[in-house]
Order: sequence, then C-alpha cells, then structure tokens
Amino acid sequence: MMHRILLVSFILFSLLGTAHAQDGGHFSPAMQPEFQQDIAALPNIPQITLAATLVITEQQASISGNLEVIYTNTSTDTLNEMVFRLYPNYPSYGGQAAISNAQINGTAVTPALDSTASIVSLPLTTPLAPTEQVAVSMDFTSTVFAERAVLYAQYSYLGGNLALPNFFPLLSVYETGLGWWRNIAHPQGDAVYSATADFDVTLTAPANWVLITSGTQIESTDNADQTRTAHYVAPLMRDFALIASPNYQTVNGEQDGISIDVHYFSGGDDAANTTLRFAEEAVRIYNANFGEYPFAELDIVETRTTAGGIEYPGLVVVQSESWNSQELYLEIVTAHEVAHQWWYSLVGNDQTRDPWLDESLAQYSTALYFGEVHGADFEQGFFDSYTDSWQNFRNEHGDMVIGLSPSDYPDGAYFSFVYAKGPLFFKLLADTYGQDALIQALHAYFAAYRYQIATPAALQTVLEQSLSQDLDSLFLEWVGQTN
Ligand SMILES: [Zn+2]
Repeated sequence: MMHRILLVSFILFSLLGTAHAQDGGHFSPAMQPEFQQDIAALPNIPQITLAATLVITEQQASISGNLEVIYTNTSTDTLNEMVFRLYPNYPSYGGQAAISNAQINGTAVTPALDSTASIVSLPLTTPLAPTEQVAVSMDFTSTVFAERAVLYAQYSYLGGNLALPNFFPLLSVYETGLGWWRNIAHPQGDAVYSATADFDVTLTAPANWVLITSGTQIESTDNADQTRTAHYVAPLMRDFALIASPNYQTVNGEQDGISIDVHYFSGGDDAANTTLRFAEEAVRIYNANFGEYPFAELDIVETRTTAGGIEYPGLVVVQSESWNSQELYLEIVTAHEVAHQWWYSLVGNDQTRDPWLDESLAQYSTALYFGEVHGADFEQGFFDSYTDSWQNFRNEHGDMVIGLSPSDYPDGAYFSFVYAKGPLFFKLLADTYGQDALIQALHAYFAAYRYQIATPAALQTVLEQSLSQDLDSLFLEWVGQTN
C-alpha cells in the first residue's frame, strides 16, 4: 500500500528538484515457461477451487458461490480446526460476507464465528496429523454496498466500478507452535496474511462487465442470459483479487516475456500509456536486481481507492484521482506497488505484524527505480525525503523502531517509521557494506523465500550470511528485535 499523505512530500521534493501432480498442465499458462516447473515443485500448498457468480444492481453487488480447499498439514503440529477469514466483514472494508453448508471431507460441520464475524473456525472431528490432507468446502456470499467508502475504499462499489479483493473466505495461515493467525486489528495499512496456494477460479458475471483478476484467463463462454463465464488459473499466489467495471479500457505491453496490462477509465489514454512505461521499467529493474517475476501476466488497474495504490498478487491498483494530472505521482505509486510483487506477493510476510518487511523494501526499491531511470540525484532526493519525513516526526514525538505492527504506531507514525525510516535501514546497509553487496543479499532473500513466508529473523539470517556480518546490534537499534 502507498499512502497519499506521504506522497505529498515526494511531489514537493520533485517540484523542488497433489492434485496438480497430474493436473499441473492446466495451471501452466499463468507461469512463464521457465517457471512452470515451480508448480510441481510445491505439491503440498493449498489447492483452492472457487466458482462464483456476480450479481450487480445499482445499490449493491453480491458474489456468491462455492469454495473448495484441499489442505495438507505441512506443520509439525496436529490441527484440531481449520480457520478462514471473511475480510468483507471488517469495518475497514464496509461490506458483508457469510458462509453456509460447510463440510470437512464431505461431512457437514458447524462453523464458529468470532465476535467480528471475520474469523471462521471449522472443527476437525478427526485431528489432522502432520503430512495429512483434508478437503474443506463451503458456500459463501459477499456483498459490497454502492457509494460506501471506508478507510482506503479498497473493497468498494464507487461510481459504478467494483473493487472486490478478498471477496471469498480466505484460508488463514497456520504457524507451527503459534496456531492459526487470528489478528483482526486493521487501523491502517494492509489487512491480509495468507499462504501461497494454487487457485482455480470460475466467475460468471454480466457479459458487458470487464473482469480483471490475479492470474490468467484460460477460457471464456458467453451464456444465453447475457452473462459470461470465465475460467482463471492463478498458481503459486497467496490471494486472488477481482476488480470489475463496464468501463475499463486496456493497453498492453511486455517486459522480459511478461505481459503487462494497464486497465483504465475512459479519457485516461495518455496516463495509461505512461503508466505502462513505468510498469515495464519497474519490472525490468526489479527482475535484474532481485530475481525474476515468474508469472505470465501483471495487471495495473485504475480504481477509486483513496490510498495511492494497493498491492495484490499479480495485480496492483492505482488511485484514479491523480490518473490524468500527476505524472510523477503515478510513477512513484507504480514503482512502489510493482515492487510489492517481489516484497509481499512472492516473498510473503504477515503484513499486520511485520509490515516493514514489505513496505520498507518497496520504498527502498522505489528509490532504486528512480536512481536507474532518472539518475543518482533523483535517488538521493528520495532518501532525503525519507529522512525528512522520519526526522520531522521524530523531532516532534520521539523516535520509534521500524519493526512494530500498524496498531502499535500512533496517528501518522506508521508512515513516518515504516515507509520513511524503514528504507533508510536498507540505505544504511548499502552505505556500510556496499550497494552491490546489499542487492546480492536481497537477491538471496528473494531466492530463499519466494512463494514462502519470511520473518524479520529470516531476513536477518540471510543478510548476515550474504554480507558476512553480525547485524544483531543494527537490527536491535532499527527494527527493535534481533535473532
Ligand atoms: Zn506498500
């Protein structure tokens, strides 16, 4: 996510200066050819099948269907329940979601909901031992209400356009020794924590609506009732996002074999072409520095979000408000959100516990992008603006570490520390040990944790090995924790 308030300083600166052992083939169109083998290399990740229908009126839109999950217990604990999350029920999403007809291995079970109705627990009458597999299914309905915009309007139906990330019951993350992730705090920043899965999704919607999703469409059929049914595959992704509008137009480009689409509203052609160029450059630079984006497609989508932009696997949204008026703003947001494909989508992390892992690296990557595209002075300008943002807050309210959760930071502090001080931690490592050495270390981190979940301890371990340094005191001072 990129926050609009923080962007103001940048703009000012610029003005101044298993199943798939047999079935892997049907997922493969979503991967670049040289990464198709990654699907079979991860046979024990959740296999998620979704079939849903989108019904849209002027007042609301509902998406209803069935979810099936084949889950292998890859932890060393025996599990007594399966946990899913209903994000539309968050006050910060402003929608509604419900499930029914829950089954475990074909037998009906009674789900338990927490008081926020965002955590669904399904009891396992037969406990699931390590390496054992279970099949979970349920029906779901999620609703979004027209012209209701809360927090970042990330789940919304505004001006006749739908943003429906996290519209289905999303499997939570089981952490060995800690249990299922159940955090419900979402005061600011990103809400979701999920593990990499293989998604097979069938969506039926009014035929005149353009659907934009994570992954790749492999089939589409027009139905007699003026609806269209499309089949998508999204292997090795930790979520499946859906954005829809009858109004989208598209420009397409390509970088390093990756098809890049920019979807935009009528009248935004020039900004769409410019944004496509930014996205191509960002992919080129991050591919070369950190390791390759393995998917066949990347979508950049104009939406009515009130954040600058928000990242989802294989898809990023950029806010509409500045589409035609703020070219530098679009470049910053595009560089930041595309960087999240490396930091968050591919290398996963708990965004509600360790948001600095993805946000600080996305900010550091954005500075690198501007250095490569616009020169060293521009890159230094970014680091100077990060320093200003951090120090302005610190001088008034005192210093904080970068390694806290969003709910631990008072108003305004989250962005000053996680987005501004955070990238300066990586800048300090680059200045101390050499920028090339740091880039190599980040490349090693990407290689080790691609499709997995990283933690601050994991990052510290990779950095220490790659840089041949003991970083205990630096991590303690900046992050607030050390191995
Ligand atoms: Zn971000």
